[in-house]
Amino acid sequence: MTAFESAPGRLFVAGGWREAADGARTEVIDPSSGAVLTTVAEAGPADVDAAVRAARDAFDDGAWSGLSGRERGRVLTRVAQLIRENAEELADLESVDVGKPYALCRAVDVEHTAAAYEHFGALAHALDGAVRETPLDALAYTRREPIGVVGAITPFNFPLILAGSKLAPALAAGNTVVHKPAEETPLSALRMAGLLQEAGVPDGVVNVVTGTGPVAGEALLRHEGVDKIAFTGSTAVGRHVAAVAGAALKPVTMELGGNAAHLVFEDADLESAVGAIIKAFVFNTGQFCMGGPRLLVARPVYRTLLGILAEAVPAVPVGDPRRAETVVGPMAGERHLRKVEEYVELARKEGGSVVCGGARLRLGGGFYYLPTVIADLPNDSPVVQEEVFGPVLTVQPFDTEDEAVALANSTAYGLASGIQTTRLARAHRVAGRLRAGVVWINDWAMLDPAVPFGGVKGSGYGREYGAEALAAYTQVKSVVVSLG
Ligand code: NAD
Repeated sequence: MTAFESAPGRLFVAGGWREAADGARTEVIDPSSGAVLTTVAEAGPADVDAAVRAARDAFDDGAWSGLSGRERGRVLTRVAQLIRENAEELADLESVDVGKPYALCRAVDVEHTAAAYEHFGALAHALDGAVRETPLDALAYTRREPIGVVGAITPFNFPLILAGSKLAPALAAGNTVVHKPAEETPLSALRMAGLLQEAGVPDGVVNVVTGTGPVAGEALLRHEGVDKIAFTGSTAVGRHVAAVAGAALKPVTMELGGNAAHLVFEDADLESAVGAIIKAFVFNTGQFCMGGPRLLVARPVYRTLLGILAEAVPAVPVGDPRRAETVVGPMAGERHLRKVEEYVELARKEGGSVVCGGARLRLGGGFYYLPTVIADLPNDSPVVQEEVFGPVLTVQPFDTEDEAVALANSTAYGLASGIQTTRLARAHRVAGRLRAGVVWINDWAMLDPAVPFGGVKGSGYGREYGAEALAAYTQVKSVVVSLG
């Protein structure tokens, strides 16, 4: 069976595969060649309605929401096991769909998703309330209950991981879900629907509707039968989603754009820092909300570090995601490649010096862009301030710790950040001053389902992963029993 046969390009509703009501289908493109990979059903409002009804019925019949946390946890642990048993196939799907190197998909995307199901499966065992002491002649206690039907909307860049970061805690808490993956990269979501069913998740508890944001996404967002929205995507769409959900008084989790600063102090171990600096901006071809595209460097080591990057960055292997040595694959779509080209063009116009890269890599019909380092841009350049979302690093010098913190905090975003220093007190002091949801010290992208992540400012609100995420998929009910 090929990967595509195992992830049929149809909608998954109430435990069965079906075409869109109007028969619409859309093409999925292979970013490494520009060729059509396959087609998937394109859901319209009627399909989203059917999916939400299925999720509502499944929630109300209690076959999942009525189980104990431990029973649900066992099923989620089985999901993790099935993900690992099907690791090669899932990695293959994710790699062809997104253009990520296969080896990376296997080691990071697949394993991280399995770990999330494992983690929330374990947390489900401990899902409980608390007895509260009061002066009342009563027994007062709280129950943690699921919220109901969750509408999960995910972006193109980490389809497996970001679906898992929503579905695993939502399911652990006893909710049912309608998932709308990104239109460009829908394949692993469909395969996961089959694996969830195989693991024992009852029909209707998870539904997957592939389709566009303005049609399927909007229908899900506005559906009265949806009780909570879990959104990951751009800040622009996130603002709209939060406004619509806000008007309907629906709770939301908003995981939005990022534009992290990576601070290198003069006392940093440059040899180890350079690996983290490169990883931070080329990982996932720079299509990484938690990437580090803004390098801030203490002036005494600024020129030295630029020299190191000028040698090291061009040596990063760019190419076919199926080759074992590839570190940087193509951009996930042509529109992403064009956007990066436009930003680099703008950087040149604004006086930026392109230290390396600065051009497409012509390889087949793929959407490749060379890892690019740009110095000498003013801090107010859109290339520094906005989310370029490609393998582009801007480098700026600073003179004092205060200036470094001010530059780091100067954009509209606040998702991730990083510090390179060998001084312990400085590491903790600066970590406390950075306006970001996560701070990495002396490495980048150290992520684990046990550690909450999410943003501040334009990067959104709410946290995924950790016990915080599980809590966000529950609501507290207080029960007060008269003892009189
Ligand atoms: P996007 O905002 O264009 O799309 C995200 C999802 O929203 C897609 O499924 C899309 O179909 C859907 N959508 C679009 N319009 C909609 C509407 N009107 N109603 C409902 N849904 C709608 O984002 P993208 O280009 O797919 O992803 C890249 C963005 O996601 C970047 O900004 C990146 O930083 C961000 N991101 C954030 C995180 C995080 O954890 N904070 C993680 C990954 C990506």
